Amino acid sequence: MKSLKASGHQLASSVAQLGLLEQEVAEKLKLPSFRDKLRSAGLFPLQPTELSVFQVNVGKMCNQVCKHCHVDAGPDRKEIMTRETMQQCLDALAKTTLQTVDLTGGAPEMNPDFRWFVAEIRRLGRHVIVRCNLTIIMANPKYRDLPEFYRQHQIEVVSSLPFYNADKTDRQRGKGVFADSIEALKLLNAVGYGQEASGLRLNLVYNPAGAFLPGSQEGLERQFKRVLFDEFGIVFNSLYAITNIPVSRYLDYLIQSGNYDGYMEKLVNAFNPAAAAGVMCRNTISVGWDGQLYDCDFNQMLDLNVASPVRHVRDFDPVRLSQRAVVINEHCYGCTAGAGSSCGGTTA
Ligand code: SF4
Ligand code: SF4
Repeated sequence: MKSLKASGHQLASSVAQLGLLEQEVAEKLKLPSFRDKLRSAGLFPLQPTELSVFQVNVGKMCNQVCKHCHVDAGPDRKEIMTRETMQQCLDALAKTTLQTVDLTGGAPEMNPDFRWFVAEIRRLGRHVIVRCNLTIIMANPKYRDLPEFYRQHQIEVVSSLPFYNADKTDRQRGKGVFADSIEALKLLNAVGYGQEASGLRLNLVYNPAGAFLPGSQEGLERQFKRVLFDEFGIVFNSLYAITNIPVSRYLDYLIQSGNYDGYMEKLVNAFNPAAAAGVMCRNTISVGWDGQLYDCDFNQMLDLNVASPVRHVRDFDPVRLSQRAVVINEHCYGCTAGAGSSCGGTTA
Protein backbone atom coordinates (compact mmCIF):
# COMPACT_ATOMS: atom_id res chain seq x y z
CA MET A 1 0.00 0.00 0.00
CA LYS A 2 1.20 3.50 -0.88
CA SER A 3 0.82 6.77 1.05
CA LEU A 4 -1.84 9.19 -0.20
CA LYS A 5 0.97 11.44 -1.38
CA ALA A 6 2.72 8.75 -3.42
CA SER A 7 -0.55 7.66 -5.01
CA GLY A 8 -1.41 11.25 -6.02
CA HIS A 9 -4.61 11.18 -3.92
CA GLN A 10 -6.60 14.40 -3.62
CA LEU A 11 -6.53 14.16 0.19
CA ALA A 12 -2.74 14.37 0.22
CA SER A 13 -3.41 18.11 0.02
CA SER A 14 -4.04 19.85 3.33
CA VAL A 15 -6.10 22.50 1.55
CA ALA A 16 -8.44 19.78 0.21
CA GLN A 17 -8.75 18.24 3.70
CA LEU A 18 -9.55 21.54 5.39
CA GLY A 19 -12.05 22.43 2.64
CA LEU A 20 -13.84 19.11 3.12
CA LEU A 21 -13.94 19.44 6.91
CA GLU A 22 -15.33 22.98 6.85
CA GLN A 23 -17.88 22.17 4.15
CA GLU A 24 -19.07 19.07 5.98
CA VAL A 25 -19.64 20.72 9.36
CA ALA A 26 -21.06 24.05 8.23
CA GLU A 27 -22.82 23.42 4.93
CA LYS A 28 -23.78 19.77 4.84
CA LEU A 29 -24.51 18.89 8.44
CA LYS A 30 -25.35 22.47 9.49
CA LEU A 31 -23.50 21.95 12.77
CA PRO A 32 -21.81 24.72 14.76
CA SER A 33 -18.19 25.42 13.93
CA PHE A 34 -15.51 24.40 16.44
CA ARG A 35 -14.79 28.09 16.96
CA ASP A 36 -18.45 28.70 17.99
CA LYS A 37 -18.39 25.72 20.34
CA LEU A 38 -15.23 27.01 21.98
CA ARG A 39 -16.76 30.46 22.27
CA SER A 40 -19.87 29.04 23.97
CA ALA A 41 -17.55 27.26 26.43
CA GLY A 42 -15.72 30.55 27.13
CA LEU A 43 -12.52 29.18 25.60
CA PHE A 44 -12.15 31.22 22.41
CA PRO A 45 -9.54 32.30 21.52
CA LEU A 46 -7.79 29.20 22.83
CA GLN A 47 -4.79 30.34 24.88
CA PRO A 48 -1.73 28.28 25.72
CA THR A 49 -1.02 27.38 29.34
CA GLU A 50 2.50 26.71 30.59
CA LEU A 51 4.65 25.00 27.92
CA SER A 52 5.64 21.58 29.19
CA VAL A 53 5.94 19.29 26.14
CA PHE A 54 8.27 19.78 23.18
CA GLN A 55 7.09 17.37 20.51
CA VAL A 56 9.36 16.72 17.57
CA ASN A 57 8.32 14.90 14.42
CA VAL A 58 11.64 13.65 13.08
CA GLY A 59 10.24 12.48 9.75
CA LYS A 60 7.40 10.88 7.84
CA MET A 61 9.24 7.71 6.88
CA CYS A 62 7.74 4.57 8.41
CA ASN A 63 8.00 0.81 7.93
CA GLN A 64 4.19 0.58 8.12
CA VAL A 65 1.33 2.11 6.14
CA CYS A 66 -1.53 2.01 8.65
CA LYS A 67 -5.01 2.74 7.34
CA HIS A 68 -5.80 5.37 9.96
CA CYS A 69 -2.46 7.25 9.88
CA HIS A 70 -2.86 11.02 10.26
CA VAL A 71 0.74 11.56 9.10
CA ASP A 72 0.22 9.71 5.79
CA ALA A 73 3.50 8.01 6.70
CA GLY A 74 5.09 5.07 4.94
CA PRO A 75 8.27 3.71 3.36
CA ASP A 76 7.70 6.01 0.38
CA ARG A 77 7.86 9.21 2.46
CA LYS A 78 11.32 10.75 2.33
CA GLU A 79 10.81 13.83 4.55
CA ILE A 80 13.37 13.44 7.33
CA MET A 81 14.73 15.90 9.93
CA THR A 82 18.39 16.78 9.40
CA ARG A 83 20.99 16.88 12.16
CA GLU A 84 21.18 20.65 11.66
CA THR A 85 17.47 21.03 12.50
CA MET A 86 17.91 18.64 15.44
CA GLN A 87 20.68 20.92 16.72
CA GLN A 88 18.27 23.87 16.44
CA CYS A 89 15.80 21.86 18.55
CA LEU A 90 18.51 21.29 21.16
CA ASP A 91 19.34 25.01 21.18
CA ALA A 92 15.64 25.79 21.61
CA LEU A 93 15.35 23.33 24.48
CA ALA A 94 18.34 24.87 26.22
CA LYS A 95 16.35 28.16 26.37
CA THR A 96 13.61 26.51 28.45
CA THR A 97 13.21 24.46 31.58
CA LEU A 98 10.49 22.27 30.07
CA GLN A 99 11.04 18.67 31.04
CA THR A 100 9.45 16.48 28.38
CA VAL A 101 10.55 15.88 24.80
CA ASP A 102 8.17 13.69 22.81
CA LEU A 103 9.68 12.13 19.66
CA THR A 104 7.37 10.98 16.94
CA GLY A 105 7.25 10.26 13.20
CA GLY A 106 6.72 8.11 10.99
CA ALA A 107 8.90 5.63 12.77
CA PRO A 108 11.30 8.03 14.51
CA GLU A 109 13.96 5.33 14.75
CA MET A 110 14.32 5.33 10.94
CA ASN A 111 15.87 8.80 11.06
CA PRO A 112 19.65 8.12 10.75
CA ASP A 113 20.39 10.70 13.48
CA PHE A 114 17.71 9.44 15.88
CA ARG A 115 20.11 7.88 18.42
CA TRP A 116 22.42 10.89 18.41
CA PHE A 117 19.43 13.19 18.99
CA VAL A 118 18.12 11.10 21.90
CA ALA A 119 21.55 11.05 23.58
CA GLU A 120 21.89 14.85 23.21
CA ILE A 121 18.43 15.52 24.66
CA ARG A 122 19.25 13.28 27.60
CA ARG A 123 22.50 15.19 28.05
CA LEU A 124 20.31 18.27 28.62
CA GLY A 125 18.63 16.31 31.39
CA ARG A 126 15.19 16.16 29.77
CA HIS A 127 12.74 13.28 29.91
CA VAL A 128 12.30 11.61 26.49
CA ILE A 129 9.21 9.86 25.20
CA VAL A 130 9.57 7.82 22.00
CA ARG A 131 6.46 6.89 20.03
CA CYS A 132 7.67 3.49 18.87
CA ASN A 133 5.40 1.50 16.55
CA LEU A 134 6.86 -1.79 17.95
CA THR A 135 7.28 -3.52 14.57
CA ILE A 136 10.32 -1.37 13.78
CA ILE A 137 12.19 -3.40 16.43
CA MET A 138 11.55 -6.56 14.39
CA ALA A 139 11.80 -4.96 10.92
CA ASN A 140 15.56 -5.28 10.55
CA PRO A 141 18.35 -6.75 12.75
CA LYS A 142 19.88 -3.27 13.03
CA TYR A 143 16.89 -2.20 15.14
CA ARG A 144 16.80 -5.29 17.40
CA ASP A 145 18.85 -3.55 20.12
CA LEU A 146 16.39 -0.65 20.44
CA PRO A 147 14.95 -1.94 23.75
CA GLU A 148 18.46 -1.91 25.24
CA PHE A 149 19.13 1.56 23.77
CA TYR A 150 15.88 2.81 25.30
CA ARG A 151 16.80 1.28 28.65
CA GLN A 152 20.26 2.84 28.68
CA HIS A 153 18.76 6.28 28.06
CA GLN A 154 15.80 5.76 30.42
CA ILE A 155 13.34 6.50 27.61
CA GLU A 156 9.59 6.27 28.12
CA VAL A 157 8.15 4.11 25.33
CA VAL A 158 4.64 4.76 24.00
CA SER A 159 3.40 2.24 21.46
CA SER A 160 0.26 1.80 19.41
CA LEU A 161 -1.54 -1.49 19.69
CA PRO A 162 -5.08 -1.01 18.37
CA PHE A 163 -6.28 -4.25 19.94
CA TYR A 164 -5.17 -7.36 21.78
CA ASN A 165 -5.85 -9.68 18.88
CA ALA A 166 -4.39 -10.15 15.42
CA ASP A 167 -7.60 -9.68 13.50
CA LYS A 168 -8.38 -6.09 14.51
CA THR A 169 -4.75 -5.00 14.76
CA ASP A 170 -3.72 -6.35 11.35
CA ARG A 171 -6.81 -4.92 9.65
CA GLN A 172 -5.75 -1.44 10.74
CA ARG A 173 -1.95 -1.68 10.66
CA GLY A 174 -1.12 -4.39 8.12
CA LYS A 175 -0.66 -8.17 7.89
CA GLY A 176 1.63 -9.65 10.53
CA VAL A 177 1.77 -6.46 12.62
CA PHE A 178 0.16 -8.05 15.67
CA ALA A 179 2.61 -10.97 15.79
CA ASP A 180 5.62 -8.66 15.40
CA SER A 181 4.22 -6.26 18.00
CA ILE A 182 3.92 -9.10 20.51
CA GLU A 183 7.53 -10.17 19.87
CA ALA A 184 8.69 -6.56 20.30
CA LEU A 185 6.73 -6.17 23.55
CA LYS A 186 8.41 -9.33 24.88
CA LEU A 187 11.83 -7.85 24.07
CA LEU A 188 10.88 -4.61 25.85
CA ASN A 189 9.65 -6.56 28.88
CA ALA A 190 12.86 -8.60 28.88
CA VAL A 191 15.01 -5.49 29.54
CA GLY A 192 12.62 -4.28 32.24
CA TYR A 193 9.99 -2.20 30.41
CA GLY A 194 6.55 -2.31 32.00
CA GLN A 195 7.92 -4.14 35.08
CA GLU A 196 6.74 -2.54 38.33
CA ALA A 197 10.04 -1.76 40.05
CA SER A 198 12.18 -0.93 36.99
CA GLY A 199 11.04 2.67 36.47
CA LEU A 200 11.03 1.92 32.72
CA ARG A 201 7.61 3.01 31.51
CA LEU A 202 5.88 1.22 28.66
CA ASN A 203 2.49 2.64 27.69
CA LEU A 204 0.19 1.36 24.98
CA VAL A 205 -2.14 3.35 22.76
CA TYR A 206 -5.56 2.06 21.77
CA ASN A 207 -7.56 3.67 19.00
CA PRO A 208 -10.89 2.46 17.63
CA ALA A 209 -10.78 0.20 14.57
CA GLY A 210 -13.82 1.89 13.00
CA ALA A 211 -15.89 5.09 13.00
CA PHE A 212 -16.68 5.19 16.71
CA LEU A 213 -15.42 6.82 19.88
CA PRO A 214 -13.20 4.85 22.28
CA GLY A 215 -14.81 3.20 25.31
CA SER A 216 -13.68 3.85 28.88
CA GLN A 217 -9.89 4.12 29.10
CA GLU A 218 -9.83 2.39 32.51
CA GLY A 219 -11.98 -0.51 31.27
CA LEU A 220 -9.86 -0.96 28.13
CA GLU A 221 -6.65 -0.87 30.18
CA ARG A 222 -7.97 -3.63 32.46
CA GLN A 223 -8.97 -5.77 29.46
CA PHE A 224 -5.65 -5.23 27.62
CA LYS A 225 -3.65 -6.03 30.77
CA ARG A 226 -5.56 -9.22 31.44
CA VAL A 227 -5.48 -10.60 27.90
CA LEU A 228 -1.88 -9.62 27.09
CA PHE A 229 -0.66 -11.14 30.34
CA ASP A 230 -2.78 -14.30 30.20
CA GLU A 231 -2.07 -15.07 26.56
CA PHE A 232 1.47 -13.76 26.07
CA GLY A 233 2.90 -12.99 29.54
CA ILE A 234 3.23 -9.30 28.55
CA VAL A 235 3.07 -6.44 31.05
CA PHE A 236 2.80 -2.69 30.53
CA ASN A 237 2.07 0.41 32.62
CA SER A 238 -0.81 2.46 31.21
CA LEU A 239 -3.13 2.36 28.25
CA TYR A 240 -4.05 5.59 26.46
CA ALA A 241 -7.38 5.54 24.64
CA ILE A 242 -7.22 7.92 21.69
CA THR A 243 -9.94 9.18 19.38
CA ASN A 244 -9.21 8.99 15.66
CA ILE A 245 -8.92 12.52 14.27
CA PRO A 246 -10.57 13.07 10.86
CA VAL A 247 -7.35 13.92 9.05
CA SER A 248 -5.43 12.34 6.16
CA ARG A 249 -5.82 8.55 5.78
CA TYR A 250 -8.47 8.31 8.51
CA LEU A 251 -10.46 11.02 6.73
CA ASP A 252 -10.11 9.02 3.53
CA TYR A 253 -11.30 5.87 5.35
CA LEU A 254 -14.37 7.72 6.68
CA ILE A 255 -15.33 8.90 3.20
CA GLN A 256 -14.65 5.55 1.49
CA SER A 257 -16.64 3.61 4.10
CA GLY A 258 -19.62 6.00 4.04
CA ASN A 259 -19.08 6.94 7.68
CA TYR A 260 -17.97 10.55 7.29
CA ASP A 261 -21.29 12.33 8.07
CA GLY A 262 -22.10 10.08 11.00
CA TYR A 263 -18.63 10.34 12.54
CA MET A 264 -18.49 14.15 12.34
CA GLU A 265 -21.97 14.35 13.86
CA LYS A 266 -20.87 12.03 16.66
CA LEU A 267 -17.81 14.16 17.42
CA VAL A 268 -19.72 17.45 17.42
CA ASN A 269 -22.56 16.11 19.56
CA ALA A 270 -20.07 14.69 22.07
CA PHE A 271 -18.26 18.05 22.53
CA ASN A 272 -17.16 18.26 26.16
CA PRO A 273 -16.11 21.69 27.52
CA ALA A 274 -13.90 20.03 30.17
CA ALA A 275 -12.04 18.14 27.44
CA ALA A 276 -11.73 21.37 25.44
CA ALA A 277 -10.10 23.07 28.43
CA GLY A 278 -7.55 20.23 28.62
CA VAL A 279 -6.51 19.89 24.96
CA MET A 280 -2.81 19.09 24.56
CA CYS A 281 -2.05 22.04 22.23
CA ARG A 282 -2.28 24.34 25.26
CA ASN A 283 0.92 22.98 26.85
CA THR A 284 2.70 21.60 23.76
CA ILE A 285 4.71 22.93 20.88
CA SER A 286 5.13 20.69 17.87
CA VAL A 287 8.18 20.84 15.59
CA GLY A 288 7.94 19.54 12.04
CA TRP A 289 10.66 17.59 10.20
CA ASP A 290 11.79 20.85 8.54
CA GLY A 291 11.82 22.84 11.80
CA GLN A 292 8.50 24.64 11.34
CA LEU A 293 6.39 25.13 14.47
CA TYR A 294 2.81 24.02 15.06
CA ASP A 295 0.35 23.75 17.93
CA CYS A 296 0.11 19.96 17.57
CA ASP A 297 0.97 17.06 15.26
CA PHE A 298 -2.48 17.22 13.62
CA ASN A 299 -2.10 20.90 12.75
CA GLN A 300 1.34 20.00 11.44
CA MET A 301 -0.15 17.52 8.95
CA LEU A 302 -2.70 20.15 7.88
CA ASP A 303 0.05 22.75 7.33
CA LEU A 304 -1.53 25.01 9.98
CA ASN A 305 1.53 26.81 11.37
CA VAL A 306 1.48 28.55 14.75
CA ALA A 307 -0.16 31.98 14.73
CA SER A 308 3.02 33.72 15.86
CA PRO A 309 5.85 35.67 14.28
CA VAL A 310 8.03 32.81 15.60
CA ARG A 311 7.46 30.15 12.97
CA HIS A 312 10.68 28.11 12.94
CA VAL A 313 12.56 26.31 15.69
CA ARG A 314 15.75 28.25 14.86
CA ASP A 315 13.94 31.40 16.13
CA PHE A 316 12.40 29.65 19.15
CA ASP A 317 11.22 32.14 21.74
CA PRO A 318 9.04 30.67 24.51
CA VAL A 319 7.76 34.06 25.71
CA ARG A 320 6.55 35.19 22.30
CA LEU A 321 5.08 31.77 21.58
CA SER A 322 3.13 31.91 24.85
CA GLN A 323 1.34 35.01 23.52
CA ARG A 324 -0.18 33.21 20.53
CA ALA A 325 -3.69 31.81 20.18
CA VAL A 326 -3.93 28.15 19.17
CA VAL A 327 -4.96 27.62 15.52
CA ILE A 328 -8.15 25.58 15.41
CA ASN A 329 -10.38 24.02 12.76
CA GLU A 330 -13.11 21.38 12.53
CA HIS A 331 -10.71 18.43 13.04
CA CYS A 332 -10.30 19.71 16.63
CA TYR A 333 -13.66 18.18 17.48
CA GLY A 334 -11.73 14.88 17.65
CA CYS A 335 -9.84 16.12 20.74
CA THR A 336 -12.89 17.37 22.63
CA ALA A 337 -15.41 14.53 22.21
CA GLY A 338 -16.45 12.55 25.26
CA ALA A 339 -13.56 12.02 27.67
CA GLY A 340 -11.25 13.97 25.33
CA SER A 341 -8.19 12.75 23.48
CA SER A 342 -4.50 13.63 23.41
CA CYS A 343 -1.14 11.94 22.90
CA GLY A 344 -1.42 11.00 26.58
CA GLY A 345 -4.96 9.59 26.35
CA THR A 346 -8.12 11.08 27.82
CA THR A 347 -8.14 14.66 29.08
CA ALA A 348 -11.38 15.01 31.04
S1 SF4 B 1 0.20 5.18 12.34
FE1 SF4 B 1 2.32 5.21 13.07
S2 SF4 B 1 3.11 3.19 12.53
FE2 SF4 B 1 1.29 3.52 11.31
S3 SF4 B 1 1.99 4.38 9.35
FE3 SF4 B 1 1.46 6.09 10.71
S4 SF4 B 1 3.37 6.65 11.71
FE4 SF4 B 1 3.65 4.59 10.85
S1 SF4 C 1 -6.29 19.07 16.85
FE1 SF4 C 1 -4.51 20.08 17.71
S2 SF4 C 1 -5.07 22.24 17.79
FE2 SF4 C 1 -6.96 21.09 17.57
S3 SF4 C 1 -7.67 20.77 19.68
FE3 SF4 C 1 -6.49 18.97 19.07
S4 SF4 C 1 -4.45 19.37 19.85
FE4 SF4 C 1 -5.54 21.35 19.78
